Amino acid sequence: MDMDRRSVLGLSAAALAAAGTFGSNPAAAKAPLAGKQNAGFYRYKVGDFEITAINDGFFDRPLEGFIKNAELADVQTVLAESSLAGDKLRIPFTTSIINTGSKLIMIDAGNGNVGAPTSGAWMENFKAAGFSPEQVDLVIFSHFHGDHINGLRLKDGSAPFTNAEIMVPAAEWAFWMDDGQMSRAPDAMKGAFQGVRRVFEPIKDKVAKYEAGKEIVPGITSIAAYGHTPGHTAFAVNSGSGKLMLMSDTTNHPALFVRRPEWTAVFDMDGPTAIASRKKMLDMAIAEKAQVAFYHAPFPAAGTIVKDGSSYRLVPVAWNSAI
Ligand SMILES: [Zn+2]
Repeated sequence: MDMDRRSVLGLSAAALAAAGTFGSNPAAAKAPLAGKQNAGFYRYKVGDFEITAINDGFFDRPLEGFIKNAELADVQTVLAESSLAGDKLRIPFTTSIINTGSKLIMIDAGNGNVGAPTSGAWMENFKAAGFSPEQVDLVIFSHFHGDHINGLRLKDGSAPFTNAEIMVPAAEWAFWMDDGQMSRAPDAMKGAFQGVRRVFEPIKDKVAKYEAGKEIVPGITSIAAYGHTPGHTAFAVNSGSGKLMLMSDTTNHPALFVRRPEWTAVFDMDGPTAIASRKKMLDMAIAEKAQVAFYHAPFPAAGTIVKDGSSYRLVPVAWNSAI
């Protein structure tokens, strides 16, 4: 008998109908189409700390011109290895919340209501995860790009995290808040400087500036990962035997920059320095046998790094019903 796909499906439907189990129950409710994804949060443990990944949507970036030092065809070949075809790349946003048991700490604040229209569900997802903004004790920033800072101050100027202390990388502050740097910057970058001032100017006397290579709060150590921006910072989170490396924007989408760390995105302000930081961080994650979390990896943006020949691969975390 020719069991091609159509005949198999046809037989199954006929068999089900004959058995009276398909389409014959008058009481069956018609479920409306949901039309949207469920709330985007995911929890996992690092030692005694509880980490909650909070999704903030995505931004579709045309591939053309995205990578400064590779041909478009080569970029598309590497993306195809991850079943990502086409002429654009979906760049997701995910922030990490660390509950140490005594403090609720956010790393970066998402797009707020200032980013791409496909982003902006951060607060809804944060609340769905059981948090409220006034519970946040501390917001630590990795760097000052808009997709990481705008959630601290919404479009109307309000600041949702009313009880939070704010910590920023000293090197990042020194660059973006410097009027000379702003006046010398190319016109295309002026908006980024103005965005930083929109968020931080009203609290400029209150933010704490941290140095790289220091345990800035118990269990969280800053790591210089410069290049993406002048003060771009990653973090090592340690609790008991648990280790997590928060990679921030050490890579943009891992399907490109974990696979090809020698490529550099248009967002990397100093390409060669960003490449060196990227390789250093990926090697460190392997040597430390640490979990990793990225800001721009597909949700929940966590996993482990493995070596793959002369390259690397992100093994995404498997959804776990227990934490
Ligand atoms: Zn980013």
